[in-house]
Amino acid sequence: MALVKDILDTMDYGPSPEANDHVRDWLARHADGFGHFIDGGFVPPAEGAFFDVTDPARETLLARAAQGSATDIDKAVKAARRALKPWSALPGHVRARHLYALARHIQKRERFLAVLESMDNGKPIRETRDIDVLLVARHFYHHAGWAELLESEFPNHAAVGVCGQIIPWNFPLLMLAWKIAPALCAGNTVVLKPAEFTPLSALAFAEICIEVGLPHGVVNIVTGDGATGAALVAHPDVDKIAFTGSTEVGREIRKATAGTGKKLSLELGGKSPFIVFEDADLDAAVEGVVDAIWFNQGEVCCAGSRLLVQEGVADRLYRKLRVRMETLRVGDPLDKSTDMGAVVAPVQLERIRALVAKGKDEGASLWQPSTAMPGMGCYYPPSLFTGVEPASTIAEVEIFGPVIAGMTFRTPEEAVALANNTRYGLAGSVWSENIDLALDVAARLKAGVVWINSTNLFDAASGFGGYRESGFGREGGREGLYEYLVPGWEKSARAPRKDAEPAKLSPLPVGGIVGGRAGLPSIDRTAKLYVGGQQARPDSGHSYTVLDRASRPIGQAGLGNRKDIRNAVEAAARATAWSGVTAHNRAQVLYYVAENLAARSREFEARLASMTDTSAKAAAGEVALAIRRTFLYAAWADKFDGAVHATRSRHVTLAMNEPWGVIGIVCPDEAPLLAFVSLVMPAIAMGNRVVVVPSARHPLAATDFYQILDTSDVPAGVVNIVTGESDPLATVLAEHDDVAALWYVGSQAGSATVERASAGNLKATWVNHGRTRRWSVDAEAQGREFLRRATQVKNIWVPYGE
Ligand code: NDP
Repeated sequence: MALVKDILDTMDYGPSPEANDHVRDWLARHADGFGHFIDGGFVPPAEGAFFDVTDPARETLLARAAQGSATDIDKAVKAARRALKPWSALPGHVRARHLYALARHIQKRERFLAVLESMDNGKPIRETRDIDVLLVARHFYHHAGWAELLESEFPNHAAVGVCGQIIPWNFPLLMLAWKIAPALCAGNTVVLKPAEFTPLSALAFAEICIEVGLPHGVVNIVTGDGATGAALVAHPDVDKIAFTGSTEVGREIRKATAGTGKKLSLELGGKSPFIVFEDADLDAAVEGVVDAIWFNQGEVCCAGSRLLVQEGVADRLYRKLRVRMETLRVGDPLDKSTDMGAVVAPVQLERIRALVAKGKDEGASLWQPSTAMPGMGCYYPPSLFTGVEPASTIAEVEIFGPVIAGMTFRTPEEAVALANNTRYGLAGSVWSENIDLALDVAARLKAGVVWINSTNLFDAASGFGGYRESGFGREGGREGLYEYLVPGWEKSARAPRKDAEPAKLSPLPVGGIVGGRAGLPSIDRTAKLYVGGQQARPDSGHSYTVLDRASRPIGQAGLGNRKDIRNAVEAAARATAWSGVTAHNRAQVLYYVAENLAARSREFEARLASMTDTSAKAAAGEVALAIRRTFLYAAWADKFDGAVHATRSRHVTLAMNEPWGVIGIVCPDEAPLLAFVSLVMPAIAMGNRVVVVPSARHPLAATDFYQILDTSDVPAGVVNIVTGESDPLATVLAEHDDVAALWYVGSQAGSATVERASAGNLKATWVNHGRTRRWSVDAEAQGREFLRRATQVKNIWVPYGE
């Protein structure tokens, strides 16, 4: 028998298995196979097909689940549509009671769900019991709260409608909670498709929906594979798709939903940096690495999978890490002392193996502990690569396994550059005892979540979601709820207009320009493009004739092309200082713009009256409103605050509204000055730089605007204006990797093209699908909606206390 002293030395301990009889009994009761959960009950699959669900740790069959077809999806969407009206019409308080009941019943089944999740996914019971299921209940409680507060906290908003939700296998029940709780709270109904590997906890949740008496059709769950998910995405009566999974599938979904008017949120992959500075508490950082990459076998979208260590402490950190890795226990997920369980399926194991082999081939050094590995099941040991080249495969590709890629840096600048050297931007973790340095680096990381001296912390009160190719939209917190709401006026909005013929831009020459006086010809004036604070000739060398309301030529404007957009984006990308100046500075500049516009209002009124059908009175009204709106965003510049979310004790979670960087803006033909100002001002007030394509038919109000910009201290490159054909220029903006977000107001066809073309770098788009917005109506054309679209929320978690 081992001596107590030896046990204390080795800290070795025996197995501590969790009982799973209750789950086995439940599975036995469903031995004939689980149906889909549609309209409040379980129904057999239309085509009678089932697929096997296996336990990856034991390689045994757990259950058979229904293979969802397009017919099943249609049935579920119809049930959700029927349930929508009564559910969304309920007072928030009543929906709150339903969500509260779901939370309570999840808690009552806590142990059952933890064991089931562990068996289905392979993740350790310690994690499902202490993290997953607790957070699931927390999400339902939190959103029960939002349902209660919805009417007062989100006035003038409405539910989106029927939501199609597709979730992955790494946190099956937690991802369900992240999707269903906010959707239901806001009055939507849902059709959810769980991952093929892990449908069981969603089916157990369906039983809870029955238990608590949730109205039929509010939640529908259709199990199946990628084709089932694709059928849900393609269904014409779905109003929104919320997806979590791989960037590749996210991109497909972006393309499939382009132009359909479906609202979309994407939570995709990551290759998140874990940055250790030499003044960090190295022992704490080692525990951080354990939580960053060996939590959930590394199958975590925000896993800290790139270890960036300051050179001076790299060897010491690696040494400590290796010692710690030797103590990690890999084995039975149902053993309470297991640190790492099984990988979800053989195919994922193969993917990890292949990428590790690639890492070795590319010259990095691999280290794995001597930890005993189970003889059967999908297991992979904790793995540390060092000497990884930043451009190598394992530094770039999401492995989604327990493998961390170590690299070194010398200075904080180098750390930030390395950290941001990825197409993703989901999360980051910064370790330093110097809070100034840590916060500085956190602010400079292009990622949606940053943990300081901590990692993988989640809470329902905080938003979670990515920058760049990690997707767009947030889940959790106030910011997450907007994904399931639309501004109230949109619901009653006019149907999309039939697309008008795009403006035919006739090249020069077209006779004389009207406007000469007393028999003299007018002085020829061709508006150029405005790029980097300078007027620039279009690359094409062509201009086009601008006509007045009687189709008489009133001027010329440059015919911008792809090259001009590229130059404008470059100029905007260089003007980074604008994003760094104080909000007060930006406000001053906007006030100055308003002042100068007011000084020249007569000129703009005359221009509007001559260009469009507008009466002199209406033109004066448009200019006055443009001045007021510029004032409004000057006022907002230093008031669109972030928040400190109430998450964990002894933590501040700072929700910062950050500018996107470069936003492309394509303006409509109507209200050519007011729409231009209404779109450009909120974007620059929040610190973005913009490339604007003004109305193609009536560009001269925007080209006259250069002079206002020039005389108002707007720094070069902050506003760039490229005139020409809207849709071709919009497509170039959509395809450009340095444009982080794109706003398009135009035709239905143009909206579709923009959404499709933006799939390349998955930029966030905001398009009107041919619907008109009344630019003169404040409720539709100004305010927080615009400011929210001009920013993305970064949550920075800062623990405090000794
Ligand atoms: P996928 O992106 O393929 O799966 C996510 C979900 O989408 C699943 O429910 C899946 O169904 C469904 N799906 C698959 N194809 C389509 C489609 N064309 N249209 C609609 N829905 C679809 O991820 P995988 O499970 O294949 O994992 C592959 C890699 O993705 C991992 O190795 C990892 O790198 C990354 N990943 C990232 C996640 C994250 O949280 N960011 C989560 C999971 C994976 P089904 O399960 O039947 O395939």
